Amino acid sequence: MKIDIIGSGVSGLCCAHAFLERACEVRVISASDALDSSCCSWWAGGMLAPGCEGESAEPLIAALGVESMKFWQALTPNYTRAGTLVLATSRDRPLLDNFARNTQGWQKLASTQMQDLEPDLAERFNSGLLFADEAHLDPRQSLGQLIEQLKSRGVEFTQRVIDDGPGNEYSSVADWIIDCRGLGAAHQLPDLRGVKGEMLHIHSTEISLSRPVRLLHPRIPLYIVPRANGVFMIGATMIESTERSRASVRSVLELLSAAYALHPAFGEAEIIEIGVDARPAFNDNLPRLRRRGKTLSVNGMYRHGFLAAPAMARRCVEFALDGIIPKEVMDENTP
Ligand SMILES: Cc1cc2nc3c(=O)[nH]c(=O)nc-3n(C[C@H](O)[C@H](O)[C@H](O)COP(=O)(O)OP(=O)(O)OC[C@H]3O[C@@H](n4cnc5c(N)ncnc54)[C@H](O)[C@@H]3O)c2cc1C
Repeated sequence: MKIDIIGSGVSGLCCAHAFLERACEVRVISASDALDSSCCSWWAGGMLAPGCEGESAEPLIAALGVESMKFWQALTPNYTRAGTLVLATSRDRPLLDNFARNTQGWQKLASTQMQDLEPDLAERFNSGLLFADEAHLDPRQSLGQLIEQLKSRGVEFTQRVIDDGPGNEYSSVADWIIDCRGLGAAHQLPDLRGVKGEMLHIHSTEISLSRPVRLLHPRIPLYIVPRANGVFMIGATMIESTERSRASVRSVLELLSAAYALHPAFGEAEIIEIGVDARPAFNDNLPRLRRRGKTLSVNGMYRHGFLAAPAMARRCVEFALDGIIPKEVMDENTP
C-alpha cells in the first residue's frame, strides 16, 4: 500500500515509522527540511511525564503516554528514565500539596533523598515529589535518529509546501494521505487552535541536574530539562495564541527569574537560544484522528506530542489497514 505522510514533525515521523513497520511504501512530504525550526517539535522539552501531566490532562494522555514511552525507549539511546522531580519554594508549598492530591505515582522525598538525587538543589529545597517512572529525551536528536532510520529503510523525503486552500485539493496516487501538518492544517480543522509556548536553551557548568525539574508557581510554572554538555532547556509559557515567532520580554524575564529562583547559578548561565512556537490543540486538549475521504488527519497534540504521537500513529495505521476504529481519539462518524 502507498502512503503519503504530510508533515515531518513528531506526528508525521511516528506515522511514517508505523506504516513502514506494516510494509507500506511510505513517502514524507513536508514544508520543512525534514526537521527544522519551523516545526513545533523542534522546540519541545522532550519530557515524557504521564504522571505529572495527569495534574491537568485527561487519563487518556497517561494511557497514550505509557504506550509511547516504550516506542522511544526502543528507538533512541538518549531516552533517559531518571524520573521527574516536582518542587515548590516554601512560600508556594500549598501548590506542592495540591499537585500531590491531583496526581498519582509519586514518592515524597525527604531532605536526605533530595541530597542523593539532586545535590545542587538540596540546600534550597528540602522536600519534593519524585515521579520515578518518568523519562525524557532530546527531541532534536531523537527525531534526527528517526529520520535517518526511515531514510535507510527507503522512505523518501520531499520538501514541498502543500497548498490545499479552497478549490485546491491535494491529489495523490497514494492509497492513504496522512495529514500531520500540526497548525499548518488549521484551515482544514476549524476547531484547531494554537497555544503559544516560549522556551530557552541556556548553558551552565556551575550546576548539574540528572532529571527534569518542575518548579510550581501560581502564575508561571517552570520546568528545566537537562541536555548533554551543560545545556538546559527552560520552558515553557502557555498562551492562547497562534503566534509562532515572537518571544515577549515578559515571558523571557519570567522564565529566567523562575530558573534563578530554582538555583542562583542559573543567573550566570549563557543564553544560547530563545524559541517560540504554538502547540496545535483542540478544545479539550486531546489528540484526534479524523477522516476526510482518503485523508486521515493526526493532530491536536497540544503539549503532548512526544507523549502521544507514537500511540496515535499505531491507531492511525490500525484504522487505515485493519479498519479498527479507535473510538477514544476519533469523535466523528467514520464510514
Ligand atoms: C516550548 C514547547 C515545549 C514542549 N514540550 C513538550 C514536551 O516536553 N513533551 C511533549 O510531549 N510535547 C511537548 N511540546 C508539544 C509538542 O512539541 C507538540 O505537541 C508537537 O511538536 C506537535 O507535533 P506535530 O508533528 O503535530 O506538529 P509540528 O512539529 O509542527 O510538525 C508539522 C509538520 O508539518 C509541516 N507542514 C506544515 N504545513 C505544511 C504544508 N502546508 N505543507 C507541507 N508541510 C507542512 C511542517 O513543516 C512540519 O514538518 C512542547 C511544545 C512547545 C512549543
